[in-house]
Amino acid sequence: MKTIDDYIRSIPDFPEEGNIFRDITTVISDKDGLQLAIDEMAALADVDFDHVVGLEARGFIFGMPLAYKLKKGFIPVRKKGKLPCETESQEYDLEYGTATIEIHKDALKPGDKVVIVDDLLATGGTIEAAIKLVEKLGAKVEKIVVLVELKGLNGREKIGNYNIASVVAYD
Ligand code: 5GP
Repeated sequence: MKTIDDYIRSIPDFPEEGNIFRDITTVISDKDGLQLAIDEMAALADVDFDHVVGLEARGFIFGMPLAYKLKKGFIPVRKKGKLPCETESQEYDLEYGTATIEIHKDALKPGDKVVIVDDLLATGGTIEAAIKLVEKLGAKVEKIVVLVELKGLNGREKIGNYNIASVVAYD
């Protein structure tokens, strides 16, 4: 019986020397890998919630089928300048410089419960920014579900007191 780890391809020195990039394209290109990924992420979304919030771009790949399977709505968090209606924005730090992500202001109402989905948790900066966006709209983050967690980068510590689950974790 294969596990998700068997489908993930590890690419040394991408995008820079010394980094091992965990490539999820080999998970989703395999029909069994794709089913396993969504089924396992769905099992981790074991809370009462209304919407999946997916983070551009690889969070869309996993977030949409998860929302469909669990019969929830899907809300995209996009990079700055992509969403057409009124948005809430959140800036966060990258290794070099900053980035901004956005959500439609009317996508969530106060009290809505969400599960945030991305492919991978590294330093936690992206998910931390997504949490802030959701909370700016008055909604509540019930859980964060990722396929892969890079434990050595201490994303959990950065994110703090939230319920985080990953299908596979690397040291
Ligand atoms: P963080 O903000 O937690 O440092 O980085 C997480 C974000 O960077 C995620 O949106 C993820 O897509 C991307 N990312 C960083 N490293 C990797 C990697 O090794 N593999 C993949 N698939 N995504 C990565």
